[in-house]
Amino acid sequence: MAEQRIAVYPGSFDPPTLGHLDLIQRATQLFDKVVIGVARNIGKKALFSTEERVAMLEQMVHHLPGVEVSRFETLTVDFARGQGACAIIRGLRVLSDFEFELTLAINNRKLNPEVDTVCLMPSEPYAFLSSTMVKEIAAFGGDFSSTVTPEVAEKLKAKIAER
Ligand code: ADP
Repeated sequence: MAEQRIAVYPGSFDPPTLGHLDLIQRATQLFDKVVIGVARNIGKKALFSTEERVAMLEQMVHHLPGVEVSRFETLTVDFARGQGACAIIRGLRVLSDFEFELTLAINNRKLNPEVDTVCLMPSEPYAFLSSTMVKEIAAFGGDFSSTVTPEVAEKLKAKIAER
């Protein structure tokens, strides 16, 4: 049997959105296995705990064969190596993502030349969607129902109400 082609999809997923899900579905068309890696945020202060983010993602992808959710606290390239991955999936939305993702990809390649970054573009409705945007709309009582799954929407409402 040919070797399995594995990709990791690292990110904060705070919270996971339909844009993330769009990318995960695209990645499953290209790879035999996709391991979503929930990063412990160093720079960003997360609204949801790592456990909560992992649980939301697990619920979102349970119907997708070949998709796993994991957490990691290492360099992304070390996470990729540990999973036996040949690629790191990242998303490109608006032009402003490009510089950041290119810098990240080149630095990751320096750290591990065996893993390449594959950037995927989301469907149009998600091209301007970010977790930060969803949290801001939610915090000010706006309608964010078209940006996340109903389960994530409930969790986000509860989290905002807690604060
Ligand atoms: P990070 O803090 O690592 O950027 P995010 O969860 O914000 O974590 O994003 C993870 C990856 O998913 C990034 O490459 C980002 O560009 C991509 N991404 C986030 N939202 C979308 C979206 N709506 N469409 C496509 N890609 C997205």
